[in-house]
Amino acid sequence: MSTGTAVVSATERDEFNPFLAMAEHFETAADHLELDPGVREVLRTPDRELTVSLPVLMDDGSLKVFKGYRVQHNFLRGPCKGGIRFAPDVHVDEVRALAAWMTWKCSVVALPFGGAKGGVICDPRELSQGELERITRRYTASIMDILGPDRDVPAPDMNTNEQTMAWIMDTYSMHVRRTTTAIVTGKPLTLGGSRGRTEATGRGVMIACREAMKKLGMRPEATRVVVQGSGNVGGIGAMLLHREGYNVVSMSDMYGAIHDENGLDVPDVLRWLREHKALEGYPEATHLDNDEQLGLECDLLVPAATENQITSQNVDRVRAKLVVEGANGPTTVPADAILENRGVTVVPDILANAGGVTVSYFEWVQDRMGYFWTEEIVNSRLEQTMVSSFNEVDACAKRHQVSMRTAAYILAIGRVADVYRMRGVFA
Ligand code: GLU
Repeated sequence: MSTGTAVVSATERDEFNPFLAMAEHFETAADHLELDPGVREVLRTPDRELTVSLPVLMDDGSLKVFKGYRVQHNFLRGPCKGGIRFAPDVHVDEVRALAAWMTWKCSVVALPFGGAKGGVICDPRELSQGELERITRRYTASIMDILGPDRDVPAPDMNTNEQTMAWIMDTYSMHVRRTTTAIVTGKPLTLGGSRGRTEATGRGVMIACREAMKKLGMRPEATRVVVQGSGNVGGIGAMLLHREGYNVVSMSDMYGAIHDENGLDVPDVLRWLREHKALEGYPEATHLDNDEQLGLECDLLVPAATENQITSQNVDRVRAKLVVEGANGPTTVPADAILENRGVTVVPDILANAGGVTVSYFEWVQDRMGYFWTEEIVNSRLEQTMVSSFNEVDACAKRHQVSMRTAAYILAIGRVADVYRMRGVFA
């Protein structure tokens, strides 16, 4: 009798476990670095994992308990840093992987931070503003013992935004009895946010695309781009690529995708999205489903939605020569190996989407100085960080004869391992 549950083999389950994916890339790089087994274990293992239950009063008068996590992976190079996501399918292994990726991401772009990530299991589409605020405040109060500008500094991630960060800042500040802007980044400008932070991840993705294309001898005007996602990373990334003269032929949201082989009018698509909250019904393009989108004819694919999108099931249909990962973990390990064998260049997440945390770092620095920079200064420092990190990863890939992903991990893990050796084992 069929139970209606899909039978998933152990290996397939493993393919979709982001923490195992992170661990596999970690081991490959650790082999190149000839890391000692003990040091490997230290660097692989999350330092602290907090699970909290959050009782929240709902608008209808009922009481509901939500579950939240904050995983601090590593703080050897500085305070932990990383976003908080709200989603119905948040899983602790996912939060662990995302926390580790933050450690490697901060290290690869040489920010003085370690890595952390948080998540709350909830469906923001079904919650009112008031309910979201109460969840956010209760979550902050429940994890604040391990937070602090010198300990762990959260930021936005999937389904969290400036408003969420304002509530976190306020809740923390009310507890410690002083306004502490540097407790969180991605805040509104008027509360100690940084100019350029909202666009930073998308801008970094655009810079990563441009640098990779230079190496491959591709020209923007002759490049057809498929962008998966249309939120803070995909939407802004598509907009900036469009402005630079790329031909953005497809975009998507969680419900479906749109396509125009002559190029989408990206500002118009984003205007539609703001008004209608979904791409559905957009009149100026052909509509297709999300899986079909990955098989579209294109030169550059930017997965900027969520994890596990390019998989062993669909990788054969991917036609791009270049993949630039705007999301964290969008390519599974088996799919990544297939792309590498096929000679597709993949600019890995921990480099390609590091623009967000880079400007988070700038925001934290500005908050601590109480002195705020112009957008030109923020953008030019972001540009410098992205370009020099890209070149370092590229040089490392050539030196070790490895993919850009392995090279990014080699650089990142090598830097954390060096610090560990110098700091020594605390006992
Ligand atoms: N959530 C973003 C990321 O995955 C930003 C993290 C931060 O700014 O701390 O990189």
